[in-house]
Amino acid sequence: MLDPKFSTFSSKAARAMDDAFNAPLAKHTTLKIGGNANRLCHPNTVDELVELVSDLNAKGEPWFILGGGSNLLVSSEGFKGTVVRTTNLTEIKNPEPGIIEAAAGVRLPHIAKKAANLGLSGMEFAVGIPGTIGGGVIMNAGAHGSCMANILLSAKVLDTTTGELKEIAAEDLDFTYRRCKLDPLKHVVVSAVFKMEQGSAADIEKKTKENEDYRWRTQPIGFPNAGSTFKNPEPTKTAGFLLDKSGAKELKEGGAAVSSLHANFVVNLGGATSHDVTTLLKRMQDCVEKEFEIHLQPEWKKLGKFTDSELEVWKS
Ligand SMILES: Cc1cc2nc3c(=O)[nH]c(=O)nc-3n(C[C@H](O)[C@H](O)[C@H](O)COP(=O)(O)OP(=O)(O)OC[C@H]3O[C@@H](n4cnc5c(N)ncnc54)[C@H](O)[C@@H]3O)c2cc1C
Repeated sequence: MLDPKFSTFSSKAARAMDDAFNAPLAKHTTLKIGGNANRLCHPNTVDELVELVSDLNAKGEPWFILGGGSNLLVSSEGFKGTVVRTTNLTEIKNPEPGIIEAAAGVRLPHIAKKAANLGLSGMEFAVGIPGTIGGGVIMNAGAHGSCMANILLSAKVLDTTTGELKEIAAEDLDFTYRRCKLDPLKHVVVSAVFKMEQGSAADIEKKTKENEDYRWRTQPIGFPNAGSTFKNPEPTKTAGFLLDKSGAKELKEGGAAVSSLHANFVVNLGGATSHDVTTLLKRMQDCVEKEFEIHLQPEWKKLGKFTDSELEVWKS
């Protein structure tokens, strides 16, 4: 039985609203930080996703698309709006040799392993990135010398400013380091098509396994984190190097600390708040600015209410 509050939404949008009110977002972010969203929805089909976001948008209700929550700091005060989580959209198709089509919520490690099983080379880099296809396209996720832009043919995108659902070729997405021209507050990636090369299954599996093992050795897997905190200002001057050399590994703020394994990782030691994290990020930026006169720009996106001084962290 549908909640009468949703009677004005289309039937598909209402079906996607089966989930929770006052839903704790900490459960759905890899940092394990975040207050409640007014409502959390899990559309089960691409059609439901499109109708839900279109309806929310038409009604002027605030919404946010959440994938794996692996590149996101959510305010401990939460989000006054609807979070639409894509993780039930897991369809993968292999319509012709070398081509893989994946829905927005497919996990990157899963598709990397699926490609390896099919003997397709190109996705090996993504095996240790705990995001989804949607978040991966938005962030141009990358590692081990490759990134989404290298294998993406096109993405199907809902433009909520026009209501249009269109297939956009990769070359029109203006990919650069950890970004593309899509604005996740206006555009919803519903699926993506990748082109990969047929290769030796044994070689692909070996490379995939090596990339996975590298993660275990170099990243703080045991503590909740959200991957690299800051973008690399230059390929030769990584944020991790600059932070390490400026002594940031010693920093701790409330329940949040810089990882002793990797200076560009912030870990939640338990009970960290978004305020602990933004204060820590500001101190990390200050360290590097003092030592190298370089301003580090966060790689993470943010959601919810932050104070003006907390928002300083994202200023360029
Ligand atoms: C341990 C660890 C290791 C990591 N290693 C790497 C790495 O090597 N390389 C790398 O690039 N990143 C890495 N990351 C960061 C992160 O996994 C990637 O940025 C990933 O692409 C984010 O995807 P997501 O689905 O989790 O996005 P989310 O965190 O859920 O969202 C990030 C942004 O994308 C938007 N978004 C998500 N889905 C959609 C959609 N369908 N349509 C429109 N907008 C959408 C959100 O609104 C938000 O603005 C790592 C993170 C962790 C925790």
